[in-house]
Amino acid sequence: MTHTAPTRTLPGEPGSGATVSLRNVVKTYGSHRALTGIDLDIAPGEFIALLGPSGCGKTTVLRALSGLERIDGGSIRVDGVDVAEVPTNKRDIGMVFQSYSLFPHMTALGNVEFGLRMRRVAKVDRRTRATDAIEMVGLGSHGERFAHQLSGGQQQRVALARALATRPRVLLLDEPLSALDAKVRVQLREEIRRITRDLGITTVFVTHDQEEALAVADRVAVMRAGRIVQIGTPEQLYATPATTFVADFVGLTSRVPGVVVGGAVEVHGVRLPLLGAPQADGPVLAYIRPEDVAIASAGDADAIAVTVVSSSFLGSLRRTQFRLPDGSLISAQHDVRDHPVAGAAAFLSLRLSAVAASAR
Ligand code: ADP
Ligand code: MG
Repeated sequence: MTHTAPTRTLPGEPGSGATVSLRNVVKTYGSHRALTGIDLDIAPGEFIALLGPSGCGKTTVLRALSGLERIDGGSIRVDGVDVAEVPTNKRDIGMVFQSYSLFPHMTALGNVEFGLRMRRVAKVDRRTRATDAIEMVGLGSHGERFAHQLSGGQQQRVALARALATRPRVLLLDEPLSALDAKVRVQLREEIRRITRDLGITTVFVTHDQEEALAVADRVAVMRAGRIVQIGTPEQLYATPATTFVADFVGLTSRVPGVVVGGAVEVHGVRLPLLGAPQADGPVLAYIRPEDVAIASAGDADAIAVTVVSSSFLGSLRRTQFRLPDGSLISAQHDVRDHPVAGAAAFLSLRLSAVAASAR
C-alpha cells in the first residue's frame, strides 16, 4: 500500500487525513443485523473502497462513521478518539451521496457556501473557501451557474466541493458516481482520486461496481451480509480471493464443474492449483477467469474441444463464450483478430493459475 504525501492543501489547512479505526461495529435495525461486527483500520490519507452487493451494509458503515446513525456495539475511533458521543457536525467528516442533494435554486458557489454556513464558518471566509473548492473540482468558470443548469457530473463536482470546503479529515462517498453515464463516471472517479491524494485526505468510497473499486482504491473491503469478508489491495483480491463469493464478485469468472483430487482441481483433464483453504476430494465448481482461458489448436496438449456460443467485440479485446463437453459455459478473453463464429467447433487451453472452488 502506498501513501502519497499531501502536495496541496486548502488554504490554512494542515491537510492531513485522519486515522480511522472500527472495532467490532454492530448495527441492528429491529431484529435485522445490518452490521455484524465490522473491523477496519484505515491509515491517514488512505483510499478505501467498500464493495458489495446492495443491502450488505455499505451505507450503514458510512452513516455510522459520520454519526448519522448510532451504533449498537463496538467502537469507532478517529485519530484514536472514540467518536460515539461526537455529533455529526463535529466529526471533521465530509460526505457525498449518490443523489446530487444540491439546492437547485442556488448557484454552485451558493451551495458550497451554504455548507460552510451550516458549519458556522465566518461570512468573510465563506466566499474564498467556496471559490477555492469550486476551482479544485474543475468548475472555476461555473461558480455562478444555478445547480439546475449543471450536468449530473458537474452537480456531483459541486457536492464534492461542498464536502471539501469544510476541510474534513475524512471524506465519505456513497456511490457518488452511480447516477452518471459511463464516460463521466470514469473521468470523475479519476479526479476524485487525484484530489483526495493531493489533499492527503482519508477516503471511504462506497460502490457496488467492482471495476470502479479496483480502479481507484488503495485497498478494497469486500462486504457481504453486514461483514467484511476480505480486505486487500485490488491485486490481492483479484489474484487470491479468500472465498468463492469474492472470486465471483471481483472480476469475471466462469463456474466450471471439476473434481478435487489430492488438493488440486481437475477440469476437463487439466489439473489446476486451488486457492484458499484445502478442500476434500469431490465434485466442485471451479471459478475460472476469462484471461486464463486461451484459444488453442486441435493438436495442442490438453486442448479441450468446445463449441462457440457467442462472441463480443470489446474494442481492445474480444470475449467469447464457449460450451464445454459437459454442457457448461466458459468465457475466454482473447485477441480481437481471432473472431470465433457462433456454432463453430474450437479448442481451448486453460492457464495453470490457481482457482477458487466451491462444493457442488
Ligand atoms: P447497502 O448500502 O450496502 O446497499 P445498507 O447499509 O443501506 O446497504 O443497508 C443494510 C441493511 O440494513 C439492508 O438490509 C437494509 O434494508 C437495512 N436498513 C438500512 N437502513 C435501515 C433503516 N433505517 N431501517 C431498517 N432497516 C434498514
Ligand atoms: Mg447504499
